[in-house]
Amino acid sequence: MAAVRDRLHVLVVGAGVGGLAAARGLAARGHRVTVLERAPALTRVGGHLGVQSNAVLALRALGASAAVEEGGVPVERFEIASWRGRRLAWWSPGALGREMSAPNVTVPRHLLLTALRDAALTHRDATELVFGAEVREIATVDDGTGVTVRTADGRSFTGDLVVGADGVRSAVRRLAGLPGTPRTAGYLTWRGVAAARPPATGPHTARHYLGRGRTFGHWPLPDGRTYWVATRLRPEPALGAAPAGPPDPADLPPRVRDLVAATPADDLLHTAVDTVEGCDTWHTGRVVLLGDAAHAMEPVTGQGGAQALLDALALATALAGVGAADGPARLGAALADYAATRRGPARKVAEEARGLGGLHHLDNPVAVRVRDTVLRCTPHSVWQRRAALRLDERELLAAAAPAGRGTAPEAARR
Ligand SMILES: Cc1cc2nc3c(=O)[nH]c(=O)nc-3n(C[C@H](O)[C@H](O)[C@H](O)COP(=O)(O)OP(=O)(O)OC[C@H]3O[C@@H](n4cnc5c(N)ncnc54)[C@H](O)[C@@H]3O)c2cc1C
Repeated sequence: MAAVRDRLHVLVVGAGVGGLAAARGLAARGHRVTVLERAPALTRVGGHLGVQSNAVLALRALGASAAVEEGGVPVERFEIASWRGRRLAWWSPGALGREMSAPNVTVPRHLLLTALRDAALTHRDATELVFGAEVREIATVDDGTGVTVRTADGRSFTGDLVVGADGVRSAVRRLAGLPGTPRTAGYLTWRGVAAARPPATGPHTARHYLGRGRTFGHWPLPDGRTYWVATRLRPEPALGAAPAGPPDPADLPPRVRDLVAATPADDLLHTAVDTVEGCDTWHTGRVVLLGDAAHAMEPVTGQGGAQALLDALALATALAGVGAADGPARLGAALADYAATRRGPARKVAEEARGLGGLHHLDNPVAVRVRDTVLRCTPHSVWQRRAALRLDERELLAAAAPAGRGTAPEAARR
């Protein structure tokens, strides 16, 4: 671990899941961290997130899992259904969670962000959060010994490394000349929290309806509420434009129209789905990417946030022994280690999400019938094994277990 006088000063751009996790991981390993976030405060929007077992394990290794494990609603069973409600497939995230000794839960996004922020701020001398700081420029300092970022309001910050955790349209990626282009996934999403429970669904059961160019998923919340996500193929592919208003009832499975109608307008969020394509280099000089900035993926497997957490953990682990006096070659080698650890696994998850996103949004009625038949005839054991493969990150987590100075890694609770 770097001695305090020789620690790195890391400028993390973005206080989302990945940026806050990186701040915690780096500060826990003795580095000084400044997080620059363009929003005026920690975001309260974003609905809920599925925090699957691999994400819980990553949070434990970061020492930030307690609030999520206590406040999360467990998902015991996940079902896929046809548009009319016939069950086509199911697997058990609950059983998987017991195997991995880590639950699979749903939490408000804000709860996860707050848990990560609070964990990062336990290193008070080492962590600073600056809101209202939109990064617009990056420049290497003249003698190459550091890097400076400038914000929209004219402030500048100099450090040893910039971490681009600034999401799918990453300014850091563009400013550093790293490859990667945002692309529309071709569909729109609506997210909401209904003050009602869905019909014909058991307790602790999440269900995903597949239709023609449309999907609808719901997850149980406390107090009889339900988190739901609806998607629909977009009529005219155009990056970034969001649809207005709630989903049209004609775009919903008949069984859940009342559920969506029971959603207060304040609890409704609509967005386009964009991914990042072609980002096959994650670092250059004193700049490195993580999370959606490097590999924004389709949300169908609910893994984007988990992969951002795993990136943050791997980056903090790779930088554990690196100090400011070590010079660019040592820093570059650590960044290369990080990218080599994470690029393959993240790409695999993103490719699976792209394949499933296409399958879930088939529009041709014959193709939809064939899809539904194949899903129905696929044995349960295959679904269970696929879910297990997606979540298995034990090697990375084992390597990352010693969280370092000043932390009590919750990984020990496993
Ligand atoms: C419909 C939907 C459902 C999803 N469901 C799940 C789920 O169930 N489970 C899961 O794990 N994942 C899910 N995801 C994916 C998950 O939301 C993302 O993968 C995750 O938020 C990525 O985190 P991040 O920190 O990389 O980026 P972000 O969360 O996008 O954070 C980026 C941050 O950077 C800030 N920023 C941007 N530009 C600048 C700048 N120039 N200067 C300073 N700050 C800047 C932004 O304000 C933001 O706070 C879902 C996504 C969608 C669209």
